[in-house]
Amino acid sequence: MSDLTELLKARIAAEGPISLHDYMELSLGHPEYGYYATRNPFGQDGDFITAPEISQMFGELIGLWCVDAWAKLGAPSCFNLVELGPGNGTLMADALRSAKLAPEFVAAAKIHLIENSARLKTVQTGKLTDHTITWHQQLPELAGAPLILIANEFFDALPIHQFQFRDGVWRERRVDWQNDRFLFTLEGSSASITGFPKMGAEADIYEYCPLADTLIQQISKDLSQNGGTALIIDYGATDTILGDSFQAMRAQGYVDPLLTPGEADLTAHVKFSRLTEIAKRHGIAVHGPTSQGRFLERLGIEARASLLGRVASETQKAEILSSLRRLTSAEEMGTLFKTLALSHNIQAPPEGFGE
Ligand code: SAH
Repeated sequence: MSDLTELLKARIAAEGPISLHDYMELSLGHPEYGYYATRNPFGQDGDFITAPEISQMFGELIGLWCVDAWAKLGAPSCFNLVELGPGNGTLMADALRSAKLAPEFVAAAKIHLIENSARLKTVQTGKLTDHTITWHQQLPELAGAPLILIANEFFDALPIHQFQFRDGVWRERRVDWQNDRFLFTLEGSSASITGFPKMGAEADIYEYCPLADTLIQQISKDLSQNGGTALIIDYGATDTILGDSFQAMRAQGYVDPLLTPGEADLTAHVKFSRLTEIAKRHGIAVHGPTSQGRFLERLGIEARASLLGRVASETQKAEILSSLRRLTSAEEMGTLFKTLALSHNIQAPPEGFGE
């Protein structure tokens, strides 16, 4: 039995069933036994592949998107370039390489990486040796300069609460240990967290991610004070708010999320409508969500692929075409993944969202 299973069992024995939020937070983020502390999740040999690990084209295009956003902010001589949850640091490395086309952009960027895994911070350090970088465990207050923020597959990794509608009220789903395994139980009394739909149909599930709300509030505040833009790429439906999207991936396949805590990646779909609503409440302009496929096509991924193809071997050409398909086609990441931008005090809308 894993150390993390022992730890969760002990906590449940002491306190009773724990919220899904706490189960997810400990399983992913425990500094010693958690998933991000002990594994290398990304890439061909990991549990899942993220867009920057599929192809350099992804990070390169995002780098150019950032340069364009910076120009639309009036090319400030100092701005904060922030990435939430940079994983292996691949996106930022590819983005900064393509952004070298505009040396003033690179010179003006104060780079901040928000990462709470010590192991991944070391990986990022190794990838980004050419740049001065400040790391933070949490998004800090960054006053006094415009903000350009990117977050790819970050929000889906944040812990959620789940509530289920039973007998006329919402009750919190909790994780218990019984008969040698973890299982869900439903709290007896109605849930005390507010803000979800008044009524549901019997057995409906509502998911709530407190940290996503807090971060969007913080980003919106920063944007409204300092101007700038934030690009959020993740999977989830545009409008749906109900449904169970809690899932676990291991070795590129789905597994039972309560079976091997700390050994599988746990995620939940991002509720784009909720993020949008919070930003708008702060007076922030919202662009999208649009599908990742359309976004990358608008940024010129096909032209980038044929340019790379010109100097590639036959095998490399096939790889480029296959990654293009993975990133953009509706059957792969193209439709499930969405892109959302928030902006304030910018001269024209960010690229990738118009017709
Ligand atoms: N953006 C990367 C990795 C996505 S995985 C990519 O596209 O490949 C999620 C990342 O967010 C990991 O780096 C993880 O360690 C980090 N992370 C998750 N929760 C976090 C939190 N609460 N605070 C800071 N970083 C977090």
